[in-house]
Amino acid sequence: MRFNQLSQKRSSLRGTWQRGAAAVAASTLLMGAQATRAQEPALPLRGAAETLAALPPEAARMPALAPGRQMIVVTERSFIDDRITPAAVIAAVTPYLPAGALPLDDQQARGIVESILEDKAAAYRLTDRTGARVGCVVAMNSRLRSAREYAALLSGAPAGLLTGNVSGTAQQWQTAILFHEAAHCGQHHAPGNMFDLAPTLMAEIDADQVMTDLFEDALGGSYATVARDVRAMRALGAIHFTNDTHHTAAGVFLAGEDIGWAGAPPSGSQVLADMQRLRPLLSQEVGRMLSDRTDWYVVALRDELNRLERFVSVDARAQHPVLQRRASMLRHMERYGAEAFARRYGATQPALVRAVEASVGDQMRARRDDPAAYAYFATAARRLQQRHVFAPDTYGARFLEIYASAAEQYVVQPACRSARAQRVHLHCRLV
Ligand SMILES: [Zn+2]
Repeated sequence: MRFNQLSQKRSSLRGTWQRGAAAVAASTLLMGAQATRAQEPALPLRGAAETLAALPPEAARMPALAPGRQMIVVTERSFIDDRITPAAVIAAVTPYLPAGALPLDDQQARGIVESILEDKAAAYRLTDRTGARVGCVVAMNSRLRSAREYAALLSGAPAGLLTGNVSGTAQQWQTAILFHEAAHCGQHHAPGNMFDLAPTLMAEIDADQVMTDLFEDALGGSYATVARDVRAMRALGAIHFTNDTHHTAAGVFLAGEDIGWAGAPPSGSQVLADMQRLRPLLSQEVGRMLSDRTDWYVVALRDELNRLERFVSVDARAQHPVLQRRASMLRHMERYGAEAFARRYGATQPALVRAVEASVGDQMRARRDDPAAYAYFATAARRLQQRHVFAPDTYGARFLEIYASAAEQYVVQPACRSARAQRVHLHCRLV
């Protein structure tokens, strides 16, 4: 009974933000609801026999995510030799194009090459002469052999660092990516331009949610844990690796998480706004923890002053409230360090002090192969939580919890255990 209530709640919440065939197909599969697009049956998956035969068996569910649209799958197995070129892509895809589809253009063909050679899975839209969407090409490399390698792909953290127990098999992670791309294929209002950040992020959140719902409700068992881990890796990636359009973690709800959720349904602009506010706050917090790194601080201050200088004319620099003190500020930082600098200039130049602290944090943030980077940022996230920087039931608050738990579970705790065992120093207790 509780499950029924829960899935009804989930479906009603989901209905408010999921648009398009993906949502219809997912809820049809999960809830047995009347299919509103029944007149558009799921077309079978198409592609080279070698490609389709090597897909996980669950890939058979992909066409249901984009009713009426033809889905073609292309992987490295779709090519007879190792030459994966735009011309070879066009030759590999053309036999499977649905009737009326325009041929692949060069830009799409180049994109598909990149998707396969550089592990950047993507769905490429197929349209007819009127611009109507008639299908898509899902392109990915299927060479990865372990769940941990897939987790590394999504998070940007080296596989060797993700020593916390990443769940599932390579095949399950590949299925997650295939479902995500298939969901894109079914979306009705996918943004035309990936630089349109909020709608692009919403399309990404929607695709991750469709995958998560299928993994939790239709497949279940260990798949549910894989969906949770995918979200965790997205969260790590959002801080250390990916751009704004893939910061989906806070907008994806696992089963039951919406019970008692009083916030607004996910929207690209809301998640984007919280993420854009949160990232410099985390960096600044980490920068403060690194106040003994005077070497980093001197470089960051010099960079910040140079940046300011570019916006001020040569004549105005002598009168500029910050630039006229340039030399003395740098000397102060070199001699007395970051804490003294913040005390001396914090009241008069708060924006400069904040920017320099955030810049030092950013240096740590970029160290994706250093467990300390995750330890510092997890600690910063916990501190922002303790200070209630984001109100309850906001996407910022959700992200802090998801990120901190992910960093602690997959990187920090195992790194600290092995550091203790080997008697190596690591910043394990920062709070
Ligand atoms: Zn996507």
